[in-house]
Amino acid sequence: MSPIRLRACLLLVCLAVLSACQSAPRARVQSARFDVRAGERAVAEKISRACEELAPRLVELVPDTELPELSVWIQELPTLYEFPLTTLPEADGFYAPDHRRIHLRQSAPDLERTLAHEMVHAALGPSWSSLPGTIEEGLCDAVSVELLPQSRARVRAGRYCAAAFGLGGLRLSLHIRTDALVSPDGLTRELEARVRLEGERRESVDPMSVFEAQAGSASTKLSVSRKKALYGYADLIVDRILERRGYAGLHRIATTARQQGRTQIPRQWLLDAAELTRDPESWQQALLEGLGPQELEELVRMQPMLLGDMLVEFLLPLPQGADLDALLAGTSMTICAQPEAASINLLAIPEFRHSVRARLARLQDKADS
Ligand SMILES: [Zn+2]
Repeated sequence: MSPIRLRACLLLVCLAVLSACQSAPRARVQSARFDVRAGERAVAEKISRACEELAPRLVELVPDTELPELSVWIQELPTLYEFPLTTLPEADGFYAPDHRRIHLRQSAPDLERTLAHEMVHAALGPSWSSLPGTIEEGLCDAVSVELLPQSRARVRAGRYCAAAFGLGGLRLSLHIRTDALVSPDGLTRELEARVRLEGERRESVDPMSVFEAQAGSASTKLSVSRKKALYGYADLIVDRILERRGYAGLHRIATTARQQGRTQIPRQWLLDAAELTRDPESWQQALLEGLGPQELEELVRMQPMLLGDMLVEFLLPLPQGADLDALLAGTSMTICAQPEAASINLLAIPEFRHSVRARLARLQDKADS
């Protein structure tokens, strides 16, 4: 064999070895059902406890669910194989059914919530197979926040906001008022407006595509904003069906489709159950109904300057040597999703107040220098 040929053979052997290579995190906590690995033992212990705590509640809540023996890996980058690199770069976690393994991102903002979401994928029995792929994502989200209610408002705010961006923007009513005492011109200033918040990348996404796309699948090539919008639509439709019919009702729809020999639930059944139509306007309206004061607060907390810029604009020009704390104390800014809905006071949200104050302070410094 020529040396070149030999090198090629050796390379192939190396590739074959590498292709089976999965680097399991070092620390390991095993129980009867769960095998949890993480970089640090404390993390593996925490997630192991969460698995034990969530599993029975999940099975009790959702019909036809059962948790197989599962392994859970918490990694810097959730990775199934190192070679070829098999991962969902933007995902905080995923479930690999062939390995019965959940992969989680160590730095995920809410690791337990992501774990609960992936556990639902692992637990769903065969009668759920008629649920369209992206709609299953909505079910996983709904169950995860039912099990961990402290995460509900944050998840819903993020998902519904992404859905609204897919529908052309999030429409909000806002009201700003500055007292005469702190106003630069000594007069009360007021602004009442309807605003439309848009995502960084304007990409309109037809809500009907939620029934076709597999937004949660690694093999689906979708832009991040499109994927996020689809997850938002899935959460919206599932939340509405659960509000109206509960888990048993949604399960009945899935089993009826299967009994009729359908591989997938007809979209009209899901639309009817959620009281939505094919018209994007009905989705827009439903989103606004779903965004209550708690969700709006979370939204502002996540992206304070989305509306903060508007307040800064309103307060300019700053009088020379203005006392920023007094100025903000004499100012109010409220928003609501629908004209008659309860509004929230943005300046009462510390993250918002700090961001606006910091921006004003920078402008003041610039003007002074
Ligand atoms: Zn998922």
